[in-house]
Amino acid sequence: MPRQLPPFQSDVVLRDGSTIHLRPLRPDETSTLRFLREQVARGGSHARWNDVPEDPTRGFILVGEASGDVHAVGGYAIDRARPDRAEVGFAIATPLQGRGVGTRMLEVLAKIAWQQQVRVFDAWVGSESEPVMRMLLDSGFEIQRRMDGGTYHVTLSLAHTDAYLERAAGRSEIAATASMKAFFEPGSVAVVGASRERGKIGAEVLHNLIDDGYTGRLFAVHPTAAIVDGIAAYPRVTDIPGDLDMAVICVPARLVSGVVDDCIAKGVKALVVITAGFAETGAAGRALEMELLARVRQAGIRMVGPNCMGVLNTDPAVRLNATFSPVSPPAGSVAMSTQSGALGLAILDYARGLNIGLSTFVSVGNKADVSSNDLIQYWANDARTQVILLYVESFGNPRKFSQIARRVGRRKPIVAVKSGRSAAGARAASSHTGAMASRDAIVDALFRQAGVIRTDTIEELFDVAMLFSSQPVPTGRRVAILTNAGGPGILAADACEARGLELPPLSEASVTALRSMLAPEASVANPVDMIASASPDQYERALATVLADDRVDSVLVIFIPPLVTRAEDVAEAVKRAIAARPGKPVLAIFMSAQGASPLLAPIPCFRFPEAAAVALARATTYGEWLATPWEAPAEMPDVDRDAARAVVDEVLESGGGWLTPAQSRTLLSAVRIAMPDEAIVATEDEAAAAADRIGYPVVLKAVGERIVHKTELGAVIVNLETADDVRAAWRDLTSRLSSLMTGGLVQEFVTGGVEMLAGAVEDPTFGPVIACATGGTRAELFADSQFRLHPLTERDAAAMIDGLRGAALLRGFRGAPPADEAALRESLLRLSALMGLCPEIQELDINPLVVLSSGTRAVDTRIRVDRPHPPAPSRRVSY
Ligand code: ADP
Ligand code: MG
Repeated sequence: MPRQLPPFQSDVVLRDGSTIHLRPLRPDETSTLRFLREQVARGGSHARWNDVPEDPTRGFILVGEASGDVHAVGGYAIDRARPDRAEVGFAIATPLQGRGVGTRMLEVLAKIAWQQQVRVFDAWVGSESEPVMRMLLDSGFEIQRRMDGGTYHVTLSLAHTDAYLERAAGRSEIAATASMKAFFEPGSVAVVGASRERGKIGAEVLHNLIDDGYTGRLFAVHPTAAIVDGIAAYPRVTDIPGDLDMAVICVPARLVSGVVDDCIAKGVKALVVITAGFAETGAAGRALEMELLARVRQAGIRMVGPNCMGVLNTDPAVRLNATFSPVSPPAGSVAMSTQSGALGLAILDYARGLNIGLSTFVSVGNKADVSSNDLIQYWANDARTQVILLYVESFGNPRKFSQIARRVGRRKPIVAVKSGRSAAGARAASSHTGAMASRDAIVDALFRQAGVIRTDTIEELFDVAMLFSSQPVPTGRRVAILTNAGGPGILAADACEARGLELPPLSEASVTALRSMLAPEASVANPVDMIASASPDQYERALATVLADDRVDSVLVIFIPPLVTRAEDVAEAVKRAIAARPGKPVLAIFMSAQGASPLLAPIPCFRFPEAAAVALARATTYGEWLATPWEAPAEMPDVDRDAARAVVDEVLESGGGWLTPAQSRTLLSAVRIAMPDEAIVATEDEAAAAADRIGYPVVLKAVGERIVHKTELGAVIVNLETADDVRAAWRDLTSRLSSLMTGGLVQEFVTGGVEMLAGAVEDPTFGPVIACATGGTRAELFADSQFRLHPLTERDAAAMIDGLRGAALLRGFRGAPPADEAALRESLLRLSALMGLCPEIQELDINPLVVLSSGTRAVDTRIRVDRPHPPAPSRRVSY
């Protein structure tokens, strides 16, 4: 097992696709530092390092290690006089220069320094240290430099500006693309464990490589044979002559480690481990996989798998089919990654049946190293790929996924099917929010915010792929339907409307034109029913007419073969009309026994209207996401960070747990979420006095650690109008709940308004999740909730409210005055800000949050704080 390291240890991918391990300098490594200083003296690039921090609270030193040797050191020392500044220095050994190590170290250092409240780095760069200067200038941080006696004094502002984030994301893409190239465009491939017995995996992989005409140099590794399947075979990888880019490993699990050693010795850049028997088998297998991964990372190379079915690239210049699949898909523009190998086989077959061509395909298996995060970035830059498909079972690093998908999705649609929609996602939570926020709801939120199109089934995944591989993205919800039969037209219209698409009336001009070209019995409303006699020519002209109509964003063309008209002719007519007027998506529905008509390819063709409507609706939602400009998370400058932290730190120090009403109040006040006027009281007299001060009517609640669901215990008495009422209520509560009650809460009685639930939970994988639900106390009954991942944008908050069926309650339902939706949005944004400040908040319910006609009131709040769980001892990769 690799040693447990602090969470910032990371394997970063460099510009050339290789990796380097970054970790903090260990206390016993002062000699390392000296070594690097010497390197610097001998010409390694560096920023001068006057003040090396020896005390870790005063700075931080990062070490870059590859193959067990330290090649780079970078660090900062916080200025004693001005703790928001630190001096930064680097020393990078000559062999590693020019690969972006310094930049990656700078990124990591800046992030760590920011957590230590450092806002500015100072660097002194000798005028001879040109590469370091260029590195600082290209980092994306705002910088200033001035000459200071032969040395440049450079100041870097460490704020993550948009410009910086853009640069960093661009660097990440370059690195990921470079490291994936070795898998998709290797100049040479060896199949290790190539068997002479057809049907065995090693034999099938080799056979596919040969059969599909791999254009590079191909080798087999076999313990005894000199030739396998006509390919030269060698006993070991190290015996292969010349360079080797990629190895496909099919040997039994116990032999993998030795083979990997050979591959590393040989300088292989990409490993595809098809062998199973690793993490998927349990703890022992997981340990084996970790060990394998550590070795691979140490060597600075990348690995697909283990437990996968291989990689495939249909590019005619490469023709790489390194899978054991019996089918090889046609070339096309759809890229796919799948986490399930077995499913991968079925998928390739299915795609073939639909005439969907693939650009590249990867079965990522256990995705110990290469995950869809790497692949999406590669595909973003792959000219042959237009649509990205993902079959996802689990997320390794969902935050990174979200960042990458959000960016890449602007250029190419990402369509994903995530298995386990129905999995209950049971979570040990006692808050309403925690109970409602199933894993699945969180994944939905993640995909929605990142613009990823989520489908429910593989079938739908390919329906959407079929649409995007040939049709443009819809720019609106308005659909026109053309049909030669009434019934299917109505089915299609219903299916569209059920999915939120609209069927507008066509323009006057279209109606007139259609009337002149169609039979007198035809209906020229939308759906346009051209009746059974519709000819290919009428199909062509009617389609051209609706495509030209400004009121139409996309078209469904339905054809049921009658006796007289030939499907081939209609297909040709439809294709001609589309070719003449490109720009709007057209989906065909040919309801024939043969299924999707190859005649129409590449126009997407469905057998039934429902599937077409579903695919179109998903594509339309993506089009809307594309049309909304990127928005930065909302900033809440008026929150009191220190006050919030003080409460949470205090609770953490006493071991964590549920906050008292007073602590909850301080925390919500710190982020300016409004609460009713209230007072914590210990006696009847205090209760009456508090009520006098607050003003009537008031509410009295029993307080006690074991009083959780107050209403159930009769611990809430509302609408108390006089001091006598309050006294009577106090006596009532104390007589009934004496054993549980440690005090009381007198609250202003909030009248009117709409009861909502606002909440948050910290998910160990996905981070903070913000919830909004209708119904207050009845939230779970109504099951009307929306979730988004932190940090929320203004638009996220608005969309959450819009997405609730109960939004109508806020908008003046049945004559009630409309509630202050803007204030509700703001409360959600403030909650998100609170979760950003205090990630130790594990669950938080404001239930109800009463939304008044002006403002909101957090009437009842429960908050649990706990230390975050230590990160799993895995080796994370970043770019
Ligand atoms: P619990 O959720 O523990 O049962 P609450 O404090 O949420 O207790 O109170 C239960 C219900 O009583 C609330 O949903 C709300 O309808 C009503 N209520 C509680 N406090 C007030 C208040 N200050 N003003 C108006 N109504 C209140
Ligand atoms: Mg409540």
